[in-house]
Amino acid sequence: MKKVAFFCIPAHGHTNPMLPVAAELVRRGNTVRFYSFNEFKSKIEATGAEFISCDSYLPELTEKEESGLKSVSTTEMAIQDIRITLAMNDFLRDEFQSFKPDVVYTDSACFWGKLNAWKYDVPMVVSTSTFAFNQLSSQYMKNSPRELAGLIFGLPKVSRELNKLKAYGFKFKGLFSLIQSDNDTDSVVYTSRRFQPYAESFSDHYAFVGPSVFSKIEPNKEKTRPLVYISLGTVINDRPEFYGKCIEALKDMDVDAIISCGNVIDREALGVLPKNVQVYPYVNQLDILSKADVFITHCGMNSVSESLYMAAPMVLYPQTNEQQAVARRTMEIGAGIMLTDDSAQGIRAAVQSILDNDTYRGSAEKCSKDFRSCSGTNGAAEFIENAPHSSNGIDFIKELSKANGKFQCLYWGIAMAIIILVGIIIGWKYVWIVGAPAGILSTLIGKSVQKRQYKSLIEKMNK
Ligand code: UDP
Repeated sequence: MKKVAFFCIPAHGHTNPMLPVAAELVRRGNTVRFYSFNEFKSKIEATGAEFISCDSYLPELTEKEESGLKSVSTTEMAIQDIRITLAMNDFLRDEFQSFKPDVVYTDSACFWGKLNAWKYDVPMVVSTSTFAFNQLSSQYMKNSPRELAGLIFGLPKVSRELNKLKAYGFKFKGLFSLIQSDNDTDSVVYTSRRFQPYAESFSDHYAFVGPSVFSKIEPNKEKTRPLVYISLGTVINDRPEFYGKCIEALKDMDVDAIISCGNVIDREALGVLPKNVQVYPYVNQLDILSKADVFITHCGMNSVSESLYMAAPMVLYPQTNEQQAVARRTMEIGAGIMLTDDSAQGIRAAVQSILDNDTYRGSAEKCSKDFRSCSGTNGAAEFIENAPHSSNGIDFIKELSKANGKFQCLYWGIAMAIIILVGIIIGWKYVWIVGAPAGILSTLIGKSVQKRQYKSLIEKMNK
């Protein structure tokens, strides 16, 4: 029997998948202490785990910081994560000394879980509520120029905060070691190998256990007319104009519709509802998805996984780059279409094409079967109990970095020769004309070299 310390950030999408795992560990006789926030107290206590409130360590936020967090800015999230880690330093030192956990199970975005596991040398398993993102799978995310600029200009501020951590004795290899998946860290990912992009590039330190859901109910789509469910999740859901357009789109269709709009919106502002549309601040999403024929979703990883688990095809309306990645993968497996026109007409057309075309439902059903064949919460609990794990086989990421390294050496050797020639023959003030495209090309070709190497490694592995 193990003592397991759970850590998570205050977010439903990150906390929800950890709950069935906590319940399973408790059922197996382990002791689980879950460090979380009052908002989640009752859900956590229902799993049988001991809830420890961390609310008093949350910093007061300025308006700018709050809006940064709401827009899921990586810089703002990293800065707040570091501040909370520092605020919890003494408290968690005492907790680690008194509770003496055998394993730490921490959300991938929760710095204080990771940093304290490293500091007190306790085996750690990371709970990954999105896809696992390494240098290959992160190519599914497209950063907008605004996000890239935000990241670049935010880095000095993040570095200053990171330096404060060092003064408190925290050991880490830089910001990326805190936010990216690597092949040496034991990790549970709540999806299947089939749905995870570039699954083979992840080592045996990864357990792809399938969606973490409490419900074992089977999808049941029998009813008199189709059901459309709409939700933009629990974080960026303050979008009354979008719900208004959905209502407009669906009011004359032969469907029933349920909208989960979150707690922030005044439902009165949505006007008098047509008979076939119901709006709630929060619903039992799994229950509704088991009956739903179309889900209009913001493509949060949990929502999409739950939808596929319940064989409901989707209209994909991603809001962040992480959600873009989930949407892209869902399209690739044929279980959804992207909402490119978010007017009432566009929404109606997207819903109608899902209803008219059985292949979307077929793909979602295939995925549902795949998810249900995964090891699930049992697999996650067993993986946590047996941590730390070892890994055999090819380390794809090391091999890909090697291939890219060789290519970059050769490429820049030739590029520098051309740049110098241009400098000598035409003039040094013109070298940027060659230098700038050379820089862009090196990244693009580097990516394709890595993809080619990835394919050849898979062929080698399958021989
Ligand atoms: N959820 C729910 N009822 C609602 C809205 C959301 O139970 O009315 C749950 C949903 O089942 C999922 C989580 O909240 O588990 C949302 O997580 P997701 O990763 O999809 O999105 P996020 O809220 O993190 O953007």
